Amino acid sequence: MAFEGLTSRLQNVFGKLRGKGKVSEDDVNEAMREVRLALLEADVNFKVVKDFINKVKEKAVGIEVMKSFTPGMAIIDIVNKELTELMGGETAKLEKANKPPTVIMMAGLQGAGKTTTSGKLAKLLQKQNHKPLLVAADIYRPAAIKQLEVLGSQINVPVFALGDQVSPVEIAKQALEHARENHLDYVIIDTAGRLHIDEALMDELKQVHAAVNPTEVLLVVDAMTGQDAVNVADSFNQQLALTGVVLTKLDGDTRGGAALSVKAVTGCPIKFAATGEKVDALEPFHPERMASRILG
Ligand code: GDP
Repeated sequence: MAFEGLTSRLQNVFGKLRGKGKVSEDDVNEAMREVRLALLEADVNFKVVKDFINKVKEKAVGIEVMKSFTPGMAIIDIVNKELTELMGGETAKLEKANKPPTVIMMAGLQGAGKTTTSGKLAKLLQKQNHKPLLVAADIYRPAAIKQLEVLGSQINVPVFALGDQVSPVEIAKQALEHARENHLDYVIIDTAGRLHIDEALMDELKQVHAAVNPTEVLLVVDAMTGQDAVNVADSFNQQLALTGVVLTKLDGDTRGGAALSVKAVTGCPIKFAATGEKVDALEPFHPERMASRILG
């Protein structure tokens, strides 16, 4: 299960603190040393860990905590709050265009789960009584168009496709037109991914971006890839001005590094979490709930 290692290590540290009637500064320092190691082992970005520990320490050695009846609990509470902050604090909502349709551009490396997530997001919007359109603009990966069409028919959401001989920019533009004419209020564009970030990929994404001016640019990253996911997010963000990140494969045994670092490193909030291959395995990302889950 995700975060298993991190959770059990943190429980260990806090188990020791919880029992104490009095907590000395040494106790706090010792606990924070262990939390630091646990976070680093969970593949959390080095600098993020350092800042996090400093913040918690600053608050934990405060007079209030030391005087508190249950200082151990007070420290756990501080860690909980800081973990929540680290992941963005509030739940980051999907923005809406002033005038429909709202265009959502999906980006990501191949295999991250971009096409699957596009379908899941369409289903989520449909459940909220919206009328989404899925757009097959990944013309390079064999079978990506077909995959989206199959997904669309499963969830009863129309898929706009023009084959693999028309440019993604043209597909995106025509899809937008199609949505307007048919009163569809969300346009979800499944763009091409590559195995690695390259200039051609970024150029094409920028062109699609310029052509349809999306309200949301969501980067889909595989949580299992830890720090790599964060580096990918950082590069995409510098080129494309992301509005959010979708973390996939949180049902796997990810250590936690991506979830805990991506907001702090890139400034982009995690908007959704995907927890399985099924089409309903997508939910809004709630930092507070995730922090509680990590603490076990
Ligand atoms: P794309 O290349 O980014 O479009 O990736 P796909 O959408 O084709 O997904 C790649 C693989 O990851 C597929 O086998 C998906 O079923 C799987 N996948 C996507 N999201 C999740 C998830 O949240 N959990 C799990 N376990 N698998 C996922």
